[in-house]
Amino acid sequence: MTQAVPTVKLLINGEFVESRTSEWREVINPATQEVLARVPMATEDEVEAAIAAGRAAFKTWRKTPIGARARIFLKYQQLIREHMKELAALLTAEQGKTLADAEGDIFRGLEVVEHAASIGNLQLGEYAENVAGGVDTYTVQQPLGVCAGITPFNFPAMIPLWMFPMAIATGNTFVLKPSEQDPMVTMRLVELALQAGIPAGVLNVVHGGEAVVNALCDHPHIKAVSFVGSSRVGTHVYQRASLAGKRVQCMMGAKNHAIVMPDANKEQALNQLAGAAFGAAGQRCMALSVAVLVGEARSWIPELVAKARSLTVGAGKDNPDLGPLISCAARERVASLIAKGVEQGATLELDGREVTVPGFENGNFVGPTIFSGVKTGMAVYEQEIFGPVLCLMEADSLEAAIDIINDNPNGNGTAIFTQSGAAARRFQEDIDVGQVGINVPIPVPVPLFSFTGSRGSKLGDLGPYGKQVILFYTQTKTVTSRWFDDEASSGKVHTTISLR
Ligand code: NAD
Repeated sequence: MTQAVPTVKLLINGEFVESRTSEWREVINPATQEVLARVPMATEDEVEAAIAAGRAAFKTWRKTPIGARARIFLKYQQLIREHMKELAALLTAEQGKTLADAEGDIFRGLEVVEHAASIGNLQLGEYAENVAGGVDTYTVQQPLGVCAGITPFNFPAMIPLWMFPMAIATGNTFVLKPSEQDPMVTMRLVELALQAGIPAGVLNVVHGGEAVVNALCDHPHIKAVSFVGSSRVGTHVYQRASLAGKRVQCMMGAKNHAIVMPDANKEQALNQLAGAAFGAAGQRCMALSVAVLVGEARSWIPELVAKARSLTVGAGKDNPDLGPLISCAARERVASLIAKGVEQGATLELDGREVTVPGFENGNFVGPTIFSGVKTGMAVYEQEIFGPVLCLMEADSLEAAIDIINDNPNGNGTAIFTQSGAAARRFQEDIDVGQVGINVPIPVPVPLFSFTGSRGSKLGDLGPYGKQVILFYTQTKTVTSRWFDDEASSGKVHTTISLR
């Protein structure tokens, strides 16, 4: 029966081609278990061909004028806008998130495409005249060559769009390895990128898992690797690709805490907390999965539970508040962590395990789940659950709450809810997390800035998109030049290092 479903193609040198592999995986609608497509685990030769295409295209692409590159991204952003509904429907079918959230996923990627169109403003060098008599020094930011991107399942539009537009706009060519769990919307975005004018070989796509990722990490012609996904795989990718001499950035797992101060606007704080904990069924690397309730805010638990209970769970296409988890395995993992939370003594204030969705009995649904009395050392606290589960902890003071967060190894995002400027300022200054929200629950920076996860959530110095990524995708070349006037050409040989 699976023979009848469409196959996801590879993109090699401008052609969408069928893989010759014997190894395929199914792309499954998480609300229905319907098989939507089959995705190949590309062969060694296919990975090699994609890299070779990128290498050949780099010769001309690196010299393509800045304006010509920019105009492709201007066209691309328009095409994404025009296809927004179609892209969102595809994304929801294979990933599960609600249609509204799917549009959000695409839109956050679209912002990066818009930014890529003006990258010339940021890819500028420096110039200093007369660093010695008649000697000038200047820098140029040159593209690296073929770069690779490896993306996770949870943002199949936004995260590929963090990567290839920036790499390509700065003059590199690219090999993308999308998540094998939901590659279809990514491929549709890739088709639109070619339609916008990206030349053959500049963007290539291979599908696969561990073997393909390892091949990209090891290959001598891949110059940089951008990875987004779990901490386990990201750490492996960072070590393996670094060992092969590449520039690497890995944006990884998280455990994002919010502090709720007793002076917060209660209604706003609880609404934002519930939205950020349970939206996208908790499958966001910036989801708020722990709330530290300070002082009197501890008495707000019943109201928070009531808000969580009121959220609707269903198939993403029907636009409920939460869709299903990505796979049966993910559902089982989350359910077993909830069981472990109970076993280890946390109080289950709301249990989402028994949720049923009429008409979608086979979907991977878990409803909003809340634990109170969570302590460090419990599995629900120590592990990234990546489901709609919120852990509540308690602290007597802002300082004690900050200590809890700074003691956690992750550093992706954090937020404080308060009406006090002094408390917010203290939090901003003392918290050791790379992305901070003040009454903003999911502080993902727009591309004028960079995504700046930190500590255990990040390996590598430079973030994806924004100003930092220009440095990631370029090599600074420093040129020191002297032009002799003919009459100054005489003189003696200098054997010292100083410029004269
Ligand atoms: P994952 O690590 O399982 O997969 C990510 C990519 O790695 C996929 O393309 C996958 O095919 C590949 N991969 C899987 N196993 C591999 C292996 N053994 N060797 C080499 N490659 C392998 O992550 P996921 O489940 O798709 O995504 C969820 C995770 O991503 C969560 O931990 C989440 O926090 C994280 N994430 C982080 C950010 C961020 O910006 N920090 C953003 C989104 C998601």
